[in-house]
Amino acid sequence: MGLVCAALNVKDTEAALGAMRRAKLAGAGLAELRLDLMEEFDLERLLTYRPLPVIVTYRRKDQGGGRGCEESERLAALSRALELGAEYVDVELGSLAELERSGAGRVIVSHHDFEKFPEDVAGLAREIAGRGADVVKIAVTPAHPLECLPLYGLPAACTKPVIAVGMGEFGAASRLLSLRFGAYLSYGALSAEECTAPGQLAAAEMTGLYRAGELGETTRLFGVIGDPVAHSLSPAVHNTAYRRMNLDAVYVSFRVPDRPEEFLRRYTRLGFEGFSVTIPHKRAALECADDADDAARAIGAANTITVIAGRGRATNTDADAAVNQLVAAFEGADRLAGKTVLLLGAGGAARAAGWGLLRAGVKLVVANRTVERGRKLAEELGADFRALDDLEGLAYDAAVNATSLGMSPRTAGTPLAAELIRPGTVIFDTVYNPLSTRLLREAEKRGARAVDGIGMFVEQAAAQILQWTGRKAWPRLMREAALERLESR
Ligand code: NAP
Repeated sequence: MGLVCAALNVKDTEAALGAMRRAKLAGAGLAELRLDLMEEFDLERLLTYRPLPVIVTYRRKDQGGGRGCEESERLAALSRALELGAEYVDVELGSLAELERSGAGRVIVSHHDFEKFPEDVAGLAREIAGRGADVVKIAVTPAHPLECLPLYGLPAACTKPVIAVGMGEFGAASRLLSLRFGAYLSYGALSAEECTAPGQLAAAEMTGLYRAGELGETTRLFGVIGDPVAHSLSPAVHNTAYRRMNLDAVYVSFRVPDRPEEFLRRYTRLGFEGFSVTIPHKRAALECADDADDAARAIGAANTITVIAGRGRATNTDADAAVNQLVAAFEGADRLAGKTVLLLGAGGAARAAGWGLLRAGVKLVVANRTVERGRKLAEELGADFRALDDLEGLAYDAAVNATSLGMSPRTAGTPLAAELIRPGTVIFDTVYNPLSTRLLREAEKRGARAVDGIGMFVEQAAAQILQWTGRKAWPRLMREAALERLESR
């Protein structure tokens, strides 16, 4: 089962001892002492007082090491670490012959590439395994998450335990997935500010949110694809729910810059059972799916792919999630039916919300900045249209902001001037970052009921979990996880 090693980025012996204690509290099973990043180290003291098993690393400068030194000095430090009882030392393949092995410590033999992903990682792993490594480590840099796929076959194929890391943002998911596919361990940072390699996750997050310690061959795989996805709340929300549901599953995020069709096909083959899909791949996800439900077809976009017997089914959980916010605000679907709803925006979110709202029986008025786009959506849905700057005098019961106005970093924006907010109406902002948008603050001041976007976000995620697992999620807990994540930013 997955072991997390906290890679320490500290300057001296005392800081390293403190950091090892923090690593233990973070749930790490090991700590990596990066001697090349330290200005001073006392190996004897470090190894005598270590609260955790350690990997002692003195990285060569051309393999990403912090500072250069004589090769003899570097290897002497590693040999001494073994003599003093270090559980592991990490040495580059080219330097292995010079290492003096003693004690029971095991030797991790590593290959790093900070620029690219080698053509034949399997061959590389075989070569390292055949040259006397106790553990093989390959840390390479993909330019697309598709490149990471060969990493997942290494642990099963290799005669020695394997550590397989895709570095950088395109490899971030591999730091968790490799454990699912049998990697010996994975590295995490003590905090986001203390990374020792690009793309590292915090060790506490790996052991806590992602339950790295429990990842193994039975763990079910889910994820989100988009570009960008770095700030997605979905991993926090989904993984929190899985833990509460006691579901042996993990949800990871993938920045997929292009080729979403190929990504979905090949990660499905790898064993993924469901994908959340976000900007800009929602249309492509629908087009490449084997099957689609009415919502996804009518909206023309999928935010969810559910894999059933190897086939991807496209659905859209945004529509119901948006409608349900208004159903709750009006205290019942029958009370919502017949109301006039002003839908601000004509992008993907507006399309989903508009389709759902019309099915819920509302009278819909679409308003958009770009008249042509707004008019087209209104026509397709069978709704009325108004230009965004021509809303004076329009009577409505509820307004839905499905534009990106008000969203971080453009928090000063609002799609509806304060004087056009009618007292007694419901103002629902699908934007949830920040939670309290200018539109919602002004709505409250004007005596309207403000509904924030987090409820919709949680509902669309809960609906995905239901589709993927057949089980109800924990919306309240998911909401708390989302809010916590937003607050920590
Ligand atoms: P999108 O397809 O890019 O559409 C963006 C919309 O915003 C378009 O209607 C666009 O108008 C409008 N817009 C952008 N900048 C504007 C400006 N300066 N002034 C006036 N209108 C402007 O994006 P999307 O996927 O629909 O997402 C829109 C929003 O929905 C996002 O803020 C997102 O946070 C939210 N959302 C929330 C959830 C949730 O679960 N709560 C789910 C999905 C989306 P033009 O046509 O004139 O460009």
